Amino acid sequence: MPLRIDILTLFPAMVQAVLSESIPRIAAEKGAVEYHLANFRDFAEGVHQSVDDRPYGGGAGMVLMCRPIYMALRDVTARDQRSPHLVLLTPAGRRFNQDVARELAAKERLLFLCGRYEGFDERIRQGFAWDEISIGDYVLSGGELAALSVVDAVVRLLPGVLNKEASAEIESFALGRHGRLLEYPQYTRPVEFEGMRVPDVLLSGHHGEIEKWRVAQAVQRTRERRPDLLPPGGAERPKEGKD
Ligand code: SAM
Repeated sequence: MPLRIDILTLFPAMVQAVLSESIPRIAAEKGAVEYHLANFRDFAEGVHQSVDDRPYGGGAGMVLMCRPIYMALRDVTARDQRSPHLVLLTPAGRRFNQDVARELAAKERLLFLCGRYEGFDERIRQGFAWDEISIGDYVLSGGELAALSVVDAVVRLLPGVLNKEASAEIESFALGRHGRLLEYPQYTRPVEFEGMRVPDVLLSGHHGEIEKWRVAQAVQRTRERRPDLLPPGGAERPKEGKD
């Protein structure tokens, strides 16, 4: 059964535009995932269908109201028998990374709630068992780009979405034999471009040597750029000789 992803947003067209391209689209076409978008403004009352109001106690900006979001969540949740893993996009959430992507890819159903304005009435947090997720220490105008980042990272991990060559297992942050490493440098044609040559080893056709070079490069790049990814004792050094 495909992973079901529900996205609650005030801007479904913005979300749809991204889901209709590239890997998110291919993932749906291959039957690995299905997307369902809902606009929680449709659940708001009154002629203006307001979803936001001024914060109690004063202060800048507007806050998303409880009622339309509670109504939308209950309605959308009931559209499928599987109870969703609820994801609230917020800068105050746990930091998104490849491990979290893998965790979410193992679920049967995900429901994302995209905030806007100054965020959520606290009772929206209190009323549901949210997995609060942040995509980084910066503030976006809304949760859509955050939800789409998470969705993109998740659906490419679903079985059958990527072909073997582009396998997610050999990308940056994948946990391999040598730990969690950034990806090694990649090259394609031509062999020489503006004085820069492809390293000879990659042209040698010697798979063992190529693999050794790639691991060494990945370790070096990780040590230089992201030493925090390496285990306390440093990465296991690639063995000399036959691999
Ligand atoms: N006033 C809020 C605060 O300081 O935490 C920020 C609100 S932000 C302008 C509007 C919405 O964008 C948030 O409710 C959240 O859904 C989303 N958002 C912004 N930055 C985000 C981030 N780094 N990660 C995940 N969602 C984010």
